[in-house]
Amino acid sequence: MTDDYEKLLSRGLSMIKDPNPAGRFEMPTAEVEAHGQKTIIRNFAHVADKFRREQQHLLKFFQKELATSASLENGQAVFLGNIKPSLITRKLADYANEFVFCKQCGQPDTKITTEDKNEMLVCWACGAKRQIRSLK
Ligand SMILES: [Zn+2]
Repeated sequence: MTDDYEKLLSRGLSMIKDPNPAGRFEMPTAEVEAHGQKTIIRNFAHVADKFRREQQHLLKFFQKELATSASLENGQAVFLGNIKPSLITRKLADYANEFVFCKQCGQPDTKITTEDKNEMLVCWACGAKRQIRSLK
């Protein structure tokens, strides 16, 4: 048994004890469906909701990261091309790390604000603030 394991274990326990409801945050899972030359995230609105982000913001991120065009249709995101579900899952995690989770305290209770034309991620839980990439 290594020290790292001990650390992981104690961190896991402290997360369980955390009274903050955000401690129970669960990463949303994208429901991906291939449709001919298109790829659809069926529960896109739900995923954006979980992150408390605008659907347009999340969509822009995917457009840039996957270098393809996309549109919103009734809460679903439709991408041009065949995109592997595993890639979408990975990009979703990237989005969460870059635009949702606070790097200071690790909580997802954050919001995006604009300051001097810079987009900032502000944490409700600890007050930390950091500049984020603009997706415009
Ligand atoms: Zn924080």
